[in-house]
Amino acid sequence: MNKPFRIAVLPGDGIGNDVTSAAVEVLRAVESRLGGERYETREFSVGAEEYLRSGDPLPEATFKEIEAYDAILLGAMGLPGVRWPDGVEMTPQLDLRERLDLYCGLRPVYLYHENDSPLRNKAAGSIDLLLIRESTEGLFFTRKQKLQPGAGYAEDTLRITEHGAERVIRSGFRAAQSRRKKLTLVDKANVLPSMAYFRSVFDRIAPEYPDIETERVYVDAAALFLLRRPESFDVLVTENMFGDILSDLAAGLVGGMGIAPSADIGDKYAVFQPAHGSAPDIAGKGIANPAATILSAAMMLEWRGDADSRKGAEAIHRAVRQVFSDPKARTPDMGGKLTTREMTDLIIGALSL
Ligand code: ATP
Repeated sequence: MNKPFRIAVLPGDGIGNDVTSAAVEVLRAVESRLGGERYETREFSVGAEEYLRSGDPLPEATFKEIEAYDAILLGAMGLPGVRWPDGVEMTPQLDLRERLDLYCGLRPVYLYHENDSPLRNKAAGSIDLLLIRESTEGLFFTRKQKLQPGAGYAEDTLRITEHGAERVIRSGFRAAQSRRKKLTLVDKANVLPSMAYFRSVFDRIAPEYPDIETERVYVDAAALFLLRRPESFDVLVTENMFGDILSDLAAGLVGGMGIAPSADIGDKYAVFQPAHGSAPDIAGKGIANPAATILSAAMMLEWRGDADSRKGAEAIHRAVRQVFSDPKARTPDMGGKLTTREMTDLIIGALSL
C-alpha cells in the first residue's frame, strides 16, 4: 500500500465547514471501501474568521505547515463585512494560488440531468467541458496595488508572460489529449496586445500536438457560443479574469455553483475547492450543496494518480452521476429539498468500488 496521502483541510468560512466535512466523509467512505488507512487529514484555520481571531487570515506559521502537506482541500473563504482596514476583501485562497504557484485552474462542467440546465433540450452528458483558467497572472496581476488617492484614474495590468502562457496552454493540450481531443483558445487578440501575445504562444505550441483539433475564439464570442453550442466544447484555455467569468457562466449551464468543482494545480502543490464562495446567506442552515466539494475531492484523488486513488475518484464520479440521475435528489440551490446531510448520505450510499 502507498504511504498515507496527507491532506490539509481548510474549511474556511460560511458553508465551507459543512461542505468540507461532507467531502472528508466521502473520502473516509472511499478509504474504508478500499481498505486500510490512506487519507490523513488535518484541519487548519484560514479565512475571515481566522482574521477576526488572530489579525491574519493566513498566518505565516499555518502557511508553512500547510506547505508540507501533499494536497489542500479548501471550503470557502470570506465573510461580508470582514475586510482589510482599507475596505478590500481578504482573499487568502487567491494568496495561496499565487504563493504556491498554482497556475492551472481546472473548472470541469458536466450536465447530470436535463432539468438542471436553463437551456432547452440538453441531454445529460451533452455538456461536458473543462475550462482551464490561468491563475497566477493575467488581469489579476496587479490586484494588490493601491489606488492613488486623487489621481483621477485607476488601472489594472493584464500581464501575460511567455512562461505563464506556455505552461497553462500545454496543460490545456495535455488535458485535451486525455479527453475528446479538442482545445479552444479564448482570448481578445483582436484588441489587446497581451492577448495577441497569448495567442502567438498558443500558435507556436499547437503544432507539437497534431492529434488535437484547435479553435480560437474571442472571449465575447465564447460567452455566446457557450450558450448556443456548449456541446461543441471540450477543453478551453484562457487568462485569469476571462476564466473567472466564463467558469461561472459555464457552471450556470449545468445547475450553478453548488455543482461546480475546481482544482488549482501547480508543478508541486495543488488546492481543491468548490467554485462557490462562503454563501453567508445560507450558512448554518444545513442546506449547502456539498456536491461541488465532493467532486473537488474526486479531482484530488485523480491528481494523486495512483491506481487506487483513481479508482476512488471514478467511484465518486459514478456515485454523483447515479444520485443526480434522479432529478428530485437536489438541494435547494438546484430546486430540491435535500439537506447537506441527506445529499452526502445519498452519495456515500451510492459509492461502489
Ligand atoms: P465569492 O465572491 O466568494 O465567489 P459570492 O458571494 O459571489 O462569493 P457565493 O458565496 O458562491 O457567491 O454565493 C452565491 C449564491 O449562491 C448565494 O445565494 C449562495 O447561497 C449560493 N450558493 C453558493 N454555493 C452554494 C452551495 N454549495 N449550496 C447552496 N447554495 C450555494
